[in-house]
Amino acid sequence: MTGRADGEKAAETIAAAHGIAGDNGFGAVAPPLYLSSTFAFPGLERPGRYEYSRTDNPTRAMLADTLAKLEGGAGAVVAASGLAAVDLILSQLRRDDLVVAPHDCYAGTARLLDAHAERGHFAVEYADQGDDARLDSALHRSPALVLVETPSNPLMRIVDIARICQRAHAAGAKVAVDNTFLSPALQRPLALGADYVVHSTTKYLNGHSDVVGGAVIVKTAEDAQALAHWANVTGVIGAPFDSYMTLRGVRTLFPRMERQQRTAGAIAAFLKSHPAVEAVYYPGLPDHPGHAIAARQQRGFGAMLSFSLAGGTGAVRAFVESLRVFTLAESLGGIESLVAHPKTMTHVYLSPDAMAAAGITDGLLRLSVGLEDQDDLIGDLTQAFVAPARR
Ligand SMILES: *Cc1c(COP(=O)(O)O)cnc(C)c1O
Repeated sequence: MTGRADGEKAAETIAAAHGIAGDNGFGAVAPPLYLSSTFAFPGLERPGRYEYSRTDNPTRAMLADTLAKLEGGAGAVVAASGLAAVDLILSQLRRDDLVVAPHDCYAGTARLLDAHAERGHFAVEYADQGDDARLDSALHRSPALVLVETPSNPLMRIVDIARICQRAHAAGAKVAVDNTFLSPALQRPLALGADYVVHSTTKYLNGHSDVVGGAVIVKTAEDAQALAHWANVTGVIGAPFDSYMTLRGVRTLFPRMERQQRTAGAIAAFLKSHPAVEAVYYPGLPDHPGHAIAARQQRGFGAMLSFSLAGGTGAVRAFVESLRVFTLAESLGGIESLVAHPKTMTHVYLSPDAMAAAGITDGLLRLSVGLEDQDDLIGDLTQAFVAPARR
């Protein structure tokens, strides 16, 4: 092979082609799927490169390696789900440690943090990290870990990753950024100072709504080793088949993101001008409070947006039940467009107070914009807005 070393290749090339035609056995162009749970020893006390698939597996390693390169990390661990990936980072904490998490973090992450805190595994403080005074007062308690999510779910609030990393590091904390909503195609938190990047690969990285998986990408080789060790100790690893599917999804990550975010921008502009819509939350809109930071730290505004519909629950029911191209479902980041009602679906776990603090109202709807034709999607929304309210 000629050309640039792997580290110099464009991210698009890594996503499309890392590991292609690297098979030593038969010259397979697509990296093979190794389902084997165990691997033969060439001789006594002479293990081969792989021994047992909980510890390491060639198909999982190929995905981990590709993700590490895309995020610019020293290594990555592929886990059974996004929450297993978050838990892998949390497992490094000790009893007296504090985690500072976003006040509007992914509800499943909040439930995981609360479950650990209740059992005395560590303490948690939720803070609005976009508010310097709030962040400083949380950092004053010397946390071990600051968890960041930007854009947030579902209001697409943006926080400044580099700024938070600087402050957190000065306070002696490590920083983990959940990059699920943008993927490395649009945001690379390690380059902005983060120590860990977490993904629910269920979303954009796999991108086809047919695998649940997760990954942690780690800045230093030492921390990567520690997490890989813990993944082997606890067995929270991703399956080879899921890894194979996810790598297949990663091949088209860049063109999917590019097209999906372009359509999302058009839908945001359409919603903004529609009389039935009270507010639109999309970082690409110039009047979004996080627009300037998003423009600086992201390579695009993503394909997720939310909006609030006038008329309360009755109007929401009529609207979502009239949609024909959008599907009413949780999750996001797939090739198909989805609509979700955070109050009764994704965020139902939150207490009424937490829901109010997160800005989740009766009329709020979240869209994950897929690869369908833009006019079909806008046409679908248009006809659903005029659907008669039912009870
Ligand atoms: C979905 C999601 C998770 C959890 O991932 P799973 O794969 O469902 O376990 C974590 N963070 C964010 C931002 C998510 O969207």
